[in-house]
Amino acid sequence: MGLSRHAGGMEYRRLGKTGLKVSALSYGAWVTFGKQIDDITAKALLKTAYEGGVNFFDNAEAYAAGKAEEVMGKALAELGFPRETYCVSSKVFWGGTLPTVRGLSRKHVTEACHAALKRLRVDYLDLYFCHRPDPETPVAETVAAMTDLIRQGKVLYWGTSEWSARDIALAHAAAREHNLYAPVMEQPQYNLFHRARVEVEYAPLYEGPGLGTTVWSPLASGLLSGKYLEGDPGDTRISLEGMEWLRERFEGPDFDRKCKVVAALAQLAGELGITLPRLALAWCLKNPRVSTAIMGASKVPQLEENLKTLDDLPLLTPEVMTQIETLAATRPDPEPTF
Ligand code: NDP
Repeated sequence: MGLSRHAGGMEYRRLGKTGLKVSALSYGAWVTFGKQIDDITAKALLKTAYEGGVNFFDNAEAYAAGKAEEVMGKALAELGFPRETYCVSSKVFWGGTLPTVRGLSRKHVTEACHAALKRLRVDYLDLYFCHRPDPETPVAETVAAMTDLIRQGKVLYWGTSEWSARDIALAHAAAREHNLYAPVMEQPQYNLFHRARVEVEYAPLYEGPGLGTTVWSPLASGLLSGKYLEGDPGDTRISLEGMEWLRERFEGPDFDRKCKVVAALAQLAGELGITLPRLALAWCLKNPRVSTAIMGASKVPQLEENLKTLDDLPLLTPEVMTQIETLAATRPDPEPTF
């Protein structure tokens, strides 16, 4: 995978085998835009990210039921970044409760794209993801709908999110059979506590199909920031309405074990002279299969802190990586899972 360095400190990586270079750290709108934070903060976060070299902003029709895209579109228009200097995404799957506005039918994939273009105030989506697989739509139908959007100039690259390696391979087979565009990127969860899909399951897809990855929750929703070690610090996403499932996870039976790992990693980060969020993000970026790690942040100082990560990569020497491996003890079984 090609890596290139930018004068501003950000690193730009090829999105799989495509010619698109995305910033190694990108920024997403889930939970925050249109929900947790006000529009002025959202705009300040986009500005901070952009000035830090971020060139990819992630979004989805499902985030705050479309409001996250509206907030991002308005802020991007006001900030006036030249369109050719950044990439923006949307994801299709959860457009509402009616049967015609969810899933990956040709109808919904097409209409969701048109709606996202309006909300984001752009003429094309750089990246367009199928947010989940849809067992009730033939994969060839979705691949054909994506191909049409690409041929119409409304989408530049299409991909998947949390699809199994098998489902991605089936999409490639359908594209080959019908001479259509295959998915070029996947958006999986990837962090020190969640590794198997990126490290094991997708292993066969990197070389041949040339899969790129835009990984999500690199801090495990904030757990890997270390701020939950003394309990809920307040003013976080786990107190928000609709996030009860995450709070339960942060109080669940596995949580004490994870906290011990987090505390040990925080100590190691301190010994290296950096903070835990930076160590956890840098660890993600050490994997060359990660095209970009999508940061979340609800406050500008969080983002400023996280953007320092690129400077930390040289600190994660093979010895330090081994130390992290030993402390976390989360290395997945190397046997392919499919
Ligand atoms: P993270 O795991 O990085 O979590 C981000 C949250 O962690 C912040 O909102 C903040 O939470 C906390 N945080 C971040 N930095 C710091 C810091 N320096 N110090 C203390 N706390 C910090 O990422 P997300 O879970 O937000 O995911 C990132 C993006 O990935 C999303 O915006 C979205 O675009 C994408 N995504 C995609 C999914 C998919 O299915 N395709 C699913 C989920 C996310 P708090 O506000 O609580 O302080």
